[in-house]
Amino acid sequence: MKAMRAFSVRHARAMMRLYSLTERLFVLAEPLIFHIGSQRLERPFSAVERLIKGLLFDCRMCGQCVLSQTGMSCPMNCPKQMRNGPCGGVRPGGFCEVWPDRRCVWLMAAEGLEHMGHSDKLALPLPPLDRRLTGRSSFLRVLRLRATAGSRNG
Ligand code: SF4
Repeated sequence: MKAMRAFSVRHARAMMRLYSLTERLFVLAEPLIFHIGSQRLERPFSAVERLIKGLLFDCRMCGQCVLSQTGMSCPMNCPKQMRNGPCGGVRPGGFCEVWPDRRCVWLMAAEGLEHMGHSDKLALPLPPLDRRLTGRSSFLRVLRLRATAGSRNG
């Protein structure tokens, strides 16, 4: 998983394209999803998301995906779950102070953003983590947020 996560960061631009494409497909399927009921789809969607994103990004199913803002490096892989930048204990060579054999997820985030051509776009702070969303589908959450924003605007 560690190797796959590093691969995804190295290929962050292609991964971002894949991610955006998936998101667009979900948006296209939005009417059908809401027709069936997003609550009813929560289990199958989160299971698929857990499998695919787990494989590619070592996803921990926080339910509020920020990969597009963190160069495809999942911040939930930080042992301290630092969600807004490195802790300050990064070892020489960019290794984690808790797990010395792993690179700091935030240094990987900076590298991923560079691969995406967005080295200046690490937009911190990220919103606070809502633990009630743990285990839930991030894609469905995006659709629900879109629907709420649409009903407010419409
Ligand atoms: S930010 Fe959250 S949803 Fe995205 S890959 Fe990491 S744990 Fe999974």
